[in-house]
Amino acid sequence: MAIGQRSETVRRANLSAIVRELHANGPRSRSMLVARIGLTRSAIRSLLGELLEADLVREERAALRGTPGRPSPVVRANPQAMVVLAIEVNVDSLAAAVVGLGGEVLELVRVDRAGRPDSVDDTIAEIAELSRRLLRDGRRRAALVGVGVAVAGVVRRSDGFVSMAPNLGWRDVPFGQRLAPALGLDVPVTVANEADLGALAEHLRGAATGHDHVLFVTGEVGVGGGLIVDGRPLTGVAGFGGEIGHLPVNRAGRQCGCGAIGCWETEVGEGALLTRAGRPADGGRDALDALLDDAATGDRVALAALEETGRWLGIGLAGLVNLLNPELVVLGGRFGRILPFVSGSLEEELDRHALAAPRALVRIVPSRLEADASLLGAAELAFEAMLADPAVWLRRSGSVQLASA
Ligand SMILES: [Zn+2]
Repeated sequence: MAIGQRSETVRRANLSAIVRELHANGPRSRSMLVARIGLTRSAIRSLLGELLEADLVREERAALRGTPGRPSPVVRANPQAMVVLAIEVNVDSLAAAVVGLGGEVLELVRVDRAGRPDSVDDTIAEIAELSRRLLRDGRRRAALVGVGVAVAGVVRRSDGFVSMAPNLGWRDVPFGQRLAPALGLDVPVTVANEADLGALAEHLRGAATGHDHVLFVTGEVGVGGGLIVDGRPLTGVAGFGGEIGHLPVNRAGRQCGCGAIGCWETEVGEGALLTRAGRPADGGRDALDALLDDAATGDRVALAALEETGRWLGIGLAGLVNLLNPELVVLGGRFGRILPFVSGSLEEELDRHALAAPRALVRIVPSRLEADASLLGAAELAFEAMLADPAVWLRRSGSVQLASA
C-alpha cells in the first residue's frame, strides 16, 4: 500500500474512533480524547477540525472549576447533524424513533396494536407511514445515515430475512428486502432480532453499562435473549443465536409456537403466566396489568402464578448461568415488570440448579431502558455503518447543508 493511501486509512480509522467515543460515552474534553484514543494532541486537533467544520461535533468552553491550568474545551456530538430512524416490530406494538448522534432521542412514536399483529404487507405500510411522519423535516431527512429495525423473530443479519416470528405469525419473510424499497430512503436498512438489540442498548446506555459478560432476557409475548460476551454481541454465524426462548425445559409441557414441545417460552411466556392465574392466555398487556395490580394488593392466585413463573425462570437461567458465567442477567420487557414478584422463587431455583461458582458471581437486575431497549438498540445498529467510517458520510454530506439549528 502506498504511503498516502496508508495515511488516509489511518485518518479514517482515527475519525471513526473519535466519533464513536463521543457517540457512546458523551461529551469529552480534548485531553480526555487524547487519553482515551491514544493520539497526540495535534492529531486530535486536526481531526476535530474536520468534524467541527462539518458541524458533526461542537466545542464548548469548559467552566472553570477552581482547578489550576487552562480548562480543556468540551467536545460533544451534534445530535442534529446525523440521525437514524429506529423501528421496532413487536407483537402488540409498533414503534419508531429518530435518534441523533450521541444517542439523543429526538422523537418517538409508539402505536398500540394489541391483540392483532398485522400481516407483513400491513406492517411494512405502517412503518413507511411512520417513517414519512418522522422524517417530514427536510433537514432531518438530509441528516439520515441509516435505518435499524428490531423484529421479535429469528432474523438473518445479512439481509433481514425473517426465518420465523411465531408470535407475529411470520415465516420465511424477506422482510429487509421488502422494507427497504417501501421506505425509499437511500441509506442502509438493517434488521435484527429485538432481544439482540435490547442487549446492545443495555450494554451501551442501560443497566449493563460497564459490564462485558451479560445475558439479556426479554419479551412481551414471547421470550428473547441477547448475549454480550467479552464486550461484544454474540449472534452466531447468521444472527440466529440467542434464541433462549426455545430452550427445551419441559418434556411434559405445552406445544410452542415454533412447533416443539416444552420450550422455555411455554413456561415463562405471558400466556403461561396468565393461564396459571386463571385468565385468558391471549389477554395481552391489559390482562398482565390487571394481574400485577392484583398481585400488588396481595391476591393469592396472582401471587402463586407469579411465583411459579419465577421458578421456571430460575430453572432456565440456571442452565444459562452454567453455560455463560455472566456477571449480570438483565431482565427486560415483561420480565423487568414482574421481577419484584418473582425474584424470590427465581433466586431459589437458581441456588438449587446453578453451579455454586458462577451462581455466586451473577446478579439479576431489571432493565434500565425498559420498553425502549430494543428500539434504542435498533438505533445503535443503524449508526454502525457510519461509525465504522464517518469520512464517507462527511464527504456525502458535503453537498448537503447540515442542520445548524
Ligand atoms: Zn419453541
